Order: sequence, then C-alpha cells, then structure tokens
Amino acid sequence: MKFVLKADRLIDGSATEVVKNAAVVVEDETITKVCSQSELNSVDLDSAHIIDHSGGTLMPGFIEMHSHIHCSAESDAYEHITTETNETFLLRGSQAVRSSLSSGVTTMRDLGSRNEVVFPLRQSIEEGIIPGPRLLVAGTPITTTGGHCNMFGTEADSSEQVVRAIRNQFKLGADHIKIMSTGGGFTPGTNVRAPQYDWNTLKDAVEDAERLGLKVAAHCHATEGVKNCVKAGIHNLIHCSWMSENPDELYDYDPDVADQIAEKGIYVDPTLALSHLNNLRGRVKRADSGAMADPERRFEILRDMWDRGVKFVTGMDSGMTNAHFDDFAYIPEVMVNSMGISPMEAITCATKTSAECLGKENEIGTITPGKSADILIVNGDPSEKIEALHNVDTIVSRGSLVKELGQLLI
Ligand SMILES: [Zn+2]
Repeated sequence: MKFVLKADRLIDGSATEVVKNAAVVVEDETITKVCSQSELNSVDLDSAHIIDHSGGTLMPGFIEMHSHIHCSAESDAYEHITTETNETFLLRGSQAVRSSLSSGVTTMRDLGSRNEVVFPLRQSIEEGIIPGPRLLVAGTPITTTGGHCNMFGTEADSSEQVVRAIRNQFKLGADHIKIMSTGGGFTPGTNVRAPQYDWNTLKDAVEDAERLGLKVAAHCHATEGVKNCVKAGIHNLIHCSWMSENPDELYDYDPDVADQIAEKGIYVDPTLALSHLNNLRGRVKRADSGAMADPERRFEILRDMWDRGVKFVTGMDSGMTNAHFDDFAYIPEVMVNSMGISPMEAITCATKTSAECLGKENEIGTITPGKSADILIVNGDPSEKIEALHNVDTIVSRGSLVKELGQLLI
C-alpha cells in the first residue's frame, strides 16, 4: 500500500530543526520520500492514500526499551507472575502488545519473561496473528539461584553456568541477553544494595554474548553492581540507581564511573517514569521504592550523567505495578519536566538513540528514506509541549495503518 502523510511539521528523530508543512511518502513497508508538501509531485500522489493532519506533527514511532509483556501492571503483579499459567501469560502478552502499539510504540523490547512465552508471542506478531509492535525479546533473564526474578526460570551462579544460560537463550531465539547484576525490589529476599555477580562473571557473559552477536542489558540498582557492569563492558545499564551498600545512606553516586559510562558508549535506561506513575496512581510504597525515596536527588544524578554525555534510552518497565502498556509518553514527559532536558532531546532518546542501543539504527528510529515506515502523527507540537506525545492521532507500523486520524483500526 502507498500512503502520503501530511502534517504542519515533522520531527525526524535526529534532533535537527522541525520541518514545516512536511510530507512523508510510504510504499509498502518503507519510507520512500521525506519532503515539504510543496515538493510532492504527481508520481508521489498517484494512487496514494492521503492522510492530511493540519495541526499535527509527524515523527518516528516510539521505541519502548523495557517491557515485561506477560506481567499484569496491577498492584498484585508479583502474585500474578508467581501463580499464573503460561496460557494466561500468553493472553496477557497479546493484550499488552496491542495496547503498546495503540499508544504509538512501534518497537518494543521485552527485557525478561517467565518460561518461554515471549517467543510464540513474537512469532504471532510476525505472522500477523495478533497486532503488535516489532518485538525484540531477551527470553528469561539470567539470575543467581534465588536471585532477582529467579521465578522467571533461569538460575546460573558460576561463569560456566551463566555462559551456558546465555547459549540456551540464544538457541531459543533471544535478540538480547538480560542479566540481573544486583537484587531487585520485585523479588522478596534479594538485596537491591548488593551485587549478585562479580565483574569477572559479567565479563565472561559479555564475551560469550558478543561471540553470538548479542548485546547484554544488566539490571543494576547497587553502585557496586553498576561498577561491575561498567568494568565488564555491559552494553546497556538498566535502572542504574547508584544505591549505596550502606543502609544508612540512599545513594552512592560516582561521577568518575559516570564518565566511564559515557566514554565506553554504554546506554542507560533509567526507567525514570516509574515513580511518576506510582505517584499518579497512588501505589502503596514497596521495598524497591528505596531507589526513588529521594526523587529530587535521583533526577539530579541523572541530569549530571546526561551532562557528562551518557546516552539515555526510554524504558518503561511496563508490566510492573502501575506501568501500563500504553504509558510510553510519560517517559519523555518526565525527562523534560524532572530531568530538565529539552523536548527535542527527549524525543531523540525515545527514537534515534534507542534504535542505536538496539543496533537497529539502519532500520528504525528516524524518518529517513529507506527506513521502516514506523510513523506517528501527534496532535500539536511536542517540541514545544512534550505532553502532546500523549495524543497520538495516526500510527503507521511497518507500513500498516494502525490508527488513522483518531480512529483505531486494530
Ligand atoms: Zn524490568
């Protein structure tokens, strides 16, 4: 199918200037032309379905970097994940990917699921059985015996066991590896302030994953865990909470390590919308809220990391309590309102930078001829008012129309 999308402005994802009176031509699954409306010619318009949204802004589809698609996002998410069957996980997952896509997420990375449920879900999207974004999956996360998310199914303690676990996820079809380098609030009995693996084990994990062409994302709350990950060359830090091992203090931020994160080009997914969503929805405090007990200081640290050149990507931790699958727009909103970066910078994190972190920058992340047609039109101008990202009016995902001028088609 051929489309011509027209809107008052275009943000192409690369943080360049907003283009006025823009048009994008899509043929089959690919963007073929990006231009001003006056440059459209009769060949472009010939037999094209035209979507004209004056007042709107064209931009790349959102990239959600951190999801657990089989989790319920309800207050008893932990009870659900520990008691439900694979069949229920599949049903929850199919609802989750539909919800994400309907909010403008056109690429989504699942960062850890129970058993092997994400693989048939990914296949079902690819085969058109259910609607959903382009889905990349980590399979089960790798954790220590009794460690964070051990109930998901893969426990590995020694280097040898970790390497074997990576190879097993690779064999199942994982696109990424997820490893739990510290404890986590979701799992009772684990310690968010202490590492689960030493840096040597993490280094062995990185080397074997790289041999297989995979990148490693590591969950890390404790500062010691962050340091181990950075030393080991982990590709993507998740949470990066800088929690002190001393229970009497909250954070133990190390700017020198932040500089190393920037120098090594390690991407950070600070899952920074979670506390906002918990406040919004009035969740009772949980053990892991320690990482956000002083949000002002947390955002100060994140801003300092940003100023040192650390690259941020946009993960929601969707599926965790209060992180609903259609909540993506809160991430750039919090980046602007609490971290103090510009709307254009936040939009670039949510599109181009996240695509680079996935190694998919040639395919997605910007509106560029030759790339996959993952395109949104939002009402208003998000470069002026970031909250406009909540109002996604039109969605094209890999060349298929998901929502047209406010009407959902899936
Ligand atoms: Zn998570």
